[in-house]
This record gives sequence, structure tokens and C-alpha cells, in this order.
Amino acid sequence: MEPLDRSTIWPYEGGKPGDFYYQRYAHPTGVAAERALGELEGGEALLFPSGSGAITALVLGLLEPGQTIALAEGGYYGTSLLFGALEPWGLRYVEFDQTSPPPDGVDLVWLEAPSNPFLTMPDFEAAGAAPARVVVDSTAATPVYVRPLEHGADFVVHSATKYLGGHSDVLLGAVVCGSADDAERLRSFRGRTGIVAAPDPCWLLLRSLKTLRVRMERITATARVLVERLRAHPAVETVRYAGFSGLLSFDVPDPGKVETSLRLIKNATSLGGTESVLESRARWEGDRVPPGLLRLSVGLEDPDELWADLEQALS
Ligand SMILES: *Cc1c(COP(=O)(O)O)cnc(C)c1O
Repeated sequence: MEPLDRSTIWPYEGGKPGDFYYQRYAHPTGVAAERALGELEGGEALLFPSGSGAITALVLGLLEPGQTIALAEGGYYGTSLLFGALEPWGLRYVEFDQTSPPPDGVDLVWLEAPSNPFLTMPDFEAAGAAPARVVVDSTAATPVYVRPLEHGADFVVHSATKYLGGHSDVLLGAVVCGSADDAERLRSFRGRTGIVAAPDPCWLLLRSLKTLRVRMERITATARVLVERLRAHPAVETVRYAGFSGLLSFDVPDPGKVETSLRLIKNATSLGGTESVLESRARWEGDRVPPGLLRLSVGLEDPDELWADLEQALS
């Protein structure tokens, strides 16, 4: 493994700062992790202390007061809360259906591939045809299934806390830039604002990226089996799934009963770990989601054991 270097300072070389001199600007473990993620996405990656930190840095670094973001409706609830929290600084946002073209007159288009927890996929072509720059939050897809920069996006955002970190033990975020100019501008903004990822989480990301593909393939295979069986189950109303990755949602008449009847699947929030987790999203999102909507993040357990647990909880 690449070494974990926790230094905050490095001596000047011949009286001049080298590549590394103060951790807020750059550190070797972060640069190594950024190189690995950048190769997977086909762009220049920058790491941040969380997905939300990455989103904050990107919109504050890119936009000016009075500018408007078109945000995919039905996407990660925290993104709309975050944009709302930035409204006192003059940032505006409007929601739109990402399966259709974005509204006119916006300064940034924010897509989610696929949306969490509604699992819709964006219309990349329609978004790319608009004059505004395009961001894709690709947390649930990962570069194993979707590489948004190849579909015309200018930026890819990840909550690396989810599949990229993959073990529910690291809070981390990333922005991958399609252009070197954008990366330089964002890197400079990050260094000044100090919204930077520390060496330890970067090292955990490096470890996790080595198994990303094999985890995602196993997770997808299991998710497909569960989706098929959920769709055939009489107590399940709607099953939403993008066809890849491990995030899915379905509606039941009594979500609380299912949550508390599970034995193997943990009743917990978040997604993307090795262990399956399920929760009712109305707990957080209120009437923005159907009251019976359960979100399931499929992990690496045996598919038949997962199904047996779901089946007993549904009955
Ligand atoms: C979790 C999540 C985020 C926020 O990331 P944090 O690492 O929790 O700050 C952003 N987008 C999506 C799609 C997420 O699932």
C-alpha cells in the first residue's frame, strides 16, 4: 500500500516550497487517492471531507450571488437542504424533472445518476444541450457503471462515504473535473477555504478503490435477484431500481413493521457499505416521498439469506 503520511509540513527544498509544504494545499496521500479516482472517472479528482463538503466547495467556488441551480427533483434530500442553507448568500435553486430538459436561464444544472431514493436516470443529452454547466452526482452509480464526463458533464460529484469508501468507515467527498482549468480554480478555492480531506480518510479511499469493481459486480448481481423477487411479492407495491448498483426502493403498507422485523439487514441510514441497510425515508424527507417507501442498500451478504430476511419481515 501507499504509505500514510500525516505530516502537516514538509521542509522547503533549496529554500523553495516543493510539491508538498503545508497539508491544507496538498498532501501525498490525498494526491495518490485523487490520482486513483481521477483515472476511474477520466478526469481530475479533488477530495473533500464529505460529499456535502464537496458540493459546498463546488457551488461556492463556481457560482456568484444571484445565480441559479436547476436541481434534479427526487434526488438526495441533503443536497436540497444544503442549497437552501446557502440561500442567505444569494444562491437560488429550482427543482426540475431530470428525465426532461432543464429549465432555461439557469447557471448550473445538477443531475443525480441514479437519483436517491427515486432511482431515475438523467437525460444527459438534454442537459448537455443547455448552455449551463452540468454537474452529475454519481454517488449511487460509481465509475464502474457510469462515467458522466463521457456523457458531456463538466463535473462529477461523489459522496465517497458510500460505495467508493464502501465499508461504512470513512466520511469523504469528491469532485472530478473534466477540465484542468476548473480543477485548478477549485483546488485554489479549496486551499483558501480549508474544505480539505485529511490523510487518513484519503488512505482508506485508496484501500477501497482496489476492490470497487468486484464489490459493485457482486452487489449488482445480488440486487437484481432481490428486485426480481420483490416485484413478485404480493405485499410490495412499487419497486424502483436503475438496473445496476445496489440502491433500490420499494413501497409497503407498514414500513415501520418491516424496519423492526429485520434480523440480518440493519435498520440504518446511508448506503454503499459491505452490509445491507434499509430504512423508511419518510422519517427524514416527510411527504416528499411516499409514506411506505423503504430504501435498501444491498451489501455483500449471501443473496438467499438476504431474501429470506426480507421475506420474513414482509410477512
Ligand atoms: C450521502 C450523499 C451525499 C452527501 O454525502 P456525505 O458524505 O454524507 O456528506 C450526497 N449525494 C448523495 C447521492 C448521497 O447519497
